[in-house]
Amino acid sequence: MRILKCLAPTILLTCCQPSYKQNTFTPQNSEPAAQSQYHEEIAREEFERKHGGTIPNHPSLSRLESMLSKFQIPNTKVSVLNTYHPNAYVLRTGHVYFTKGVLNDVDSEEGIAALIAHELSHLDDPENFAPEKTFEEKLEIEVKADLGATALLLKNGYNPEAIIKLLNCLKEQPEGWPEARISRIKKHLNIQ
Ligand SMILES: [Zn+2]
Repeated sequence: MRILKCLAPTILLTCCQPSYKQNTFTPQNSEPAAQSQYHEEIAREEFERKHGGTIPNHPSLSRLESMLSKFQIPNTKVSVLNTYHPNAYVLRTGHVYFTKGVLNDVDSEEGIAALIAHELSHLDDPENFAPEKTFEEKLEIEVKADLGATALLLKNGYNPEAIIKLLNCLKEQPEGWPEARISRIKKHLNIQ
């Protein structure tokens, strides 16, 4: 069964940690943890605004929530962004995002599971959210998320090769990235 419809020319999986300016309304005299949480919240709101906002009543949302919960990663949440740009993101708060565009392209349970697993896997890598990464570092971060996704898929009863099928449909990745990522996954899974 095909995992993707591949109708749209682009699916770019990224991890995303939005930049944000220090907010001048930061609560004073609050604990560092509270301030940090406050800044995370501001960053999340800015990120969502930048991507068209979220769609609380999107028809795929309950399915996404149900599938995300099966992975049993605490403190995670999923939302749909109101943009046709096909992409998926995760913030370090555990907030996973799918765009309307990526949901148009990825319609099978296995495909969505691969996307969720990839994004959740980013949460295990602190480097994912570090600023100022080089091109090579970004590729390595994506590879680590792909390899982590294979383990998450297997653990949750999915074929780990679902991530390869997904990557095969990514048409506008940086040159050489799909090959590099798929090669590393195949080596990791010990398949040809
Ligand atoms: Zn990624």
